[in-house]
Amino acid sequence: MRRVLSLVLIVFLFVLLLVACTPAPYSAVLCGKMNTDVLITLYSNGADKSADELIAACEDLLDEAEQALSRTDAAAELARVNANMETTVTLSDTLADMLRLSLSLSRETSGAFDPTAGALSVLYDITGDTHLPPDPDALAAAKATVDYTALALEGNTLSRPVGTVLDFGAIAKGHLAAVLVDYLLAEGVSGGVLSLGGNVAVFGEKPNGKPFRVAVRAPEGGYLGELALSGNTYVSTSGAYERFRVGTDGVTYHHIFDPATGKPADSGLASVTVVSRDGARADALSTALYVMGYDAAISFWEKAGRNFDMILVREDGEVFVTPDLTFEAA
Ligand code: ADP
Ligand code: MG
Repeated sequence: MRRVLSLVLIVFLFVLLLVACTPAPYSAVLCGKMNTDVLITLYSNGADKSADELIAACEDLLDEAEQALSRTDAAAELARVNANMETTVTLSDTLADMLRLSLSLSRETSGAFDPTAGALSVLYDITGDTHLPPDPDALAAAKATVDYTALALEGNTLSRPVGTVLDFGAIAKGHLAAVLVDYLLAEGVSGGVLSLGGNVAVFGEKPNGKPFRVAVRAPEGGYLGELALSGNTYVSTSGAYERFRVGTDGVTYHHIFDPATGKPADSGLASVTVVSRDGARADALSTALYVMGYDAAISFWEKAGRNFDMILVREDGEVFVTPDLTFEAA
């Protein structure tokens, strides 16, 4: 009996030791950053800085980015560029780099992702209380300003038609996720998970060496399933269900616009999730593929040499998952 008891004690102590040796993750929420809440989970063993110092530095990086990239904060550089009536403006490096990257994704997606779609966000004002549906003349005027091919960016000098409204809402959160991951890895953080709105990043390794598990939301609520991912990977989901408002005509208006029509995208897709090693690309592509629709999204993926993964959910319930993903349906 005594032998059994001591064996139980030894097993108990061993388990206790294991638990004590597995570093607990450190989590924090930064509210109201980039129009969303930012969740940060760190396995910070290996870093010289404390978890609190790392989180504070992440907050500084987000605030700095917002001061450059916000369309709605009148003091931000982007808002000032949009309000500027000169055809030629000089941009900061942050803004010029964001625009250069955006224009390359616009070319790749033939304009399904277009950073000049800002006038449509202003017109439909999904988060505000503007009259919906918009007046047809106002829609035509806003749509006329949406054209990334009318922009010329040389170095930091941007020439564009006056009235162009730049908006990085479809790419900035994914880009910022990557900026934070690069910073945290450089500081020696061993691994972690970030979530910025519909954008999740997993980086480094978990202390137990197991894959990161990321849940994917179902458009109708609840979960579609779970992805098993290794670091460093970015997951971005776009869907009409995220931000929408019902107009006086009873139609639901949402926040992802088809630059070809100037109207909320109506491609038959309910949501698109893109998984990529590139944060900005994951974000911009989830928006662009949502605009393109199911068949065009699959052709795009083939043409891109299958260099990203995706989950497409059609409004009729059909789901397409690229074969390299480890995805467990709920
Ligand atoms: P969320 O911001 O909800 O994560 P997305 O990444 O799909 O969703 O981005 C949607 C935002 O991008 C909109 O709120 C708007 O600011 C902007 N946007 C909408 N349609 C387009 C488009 N076709 N191309 C580029 N940006 C767009
Ligand atoms: Mg996006």
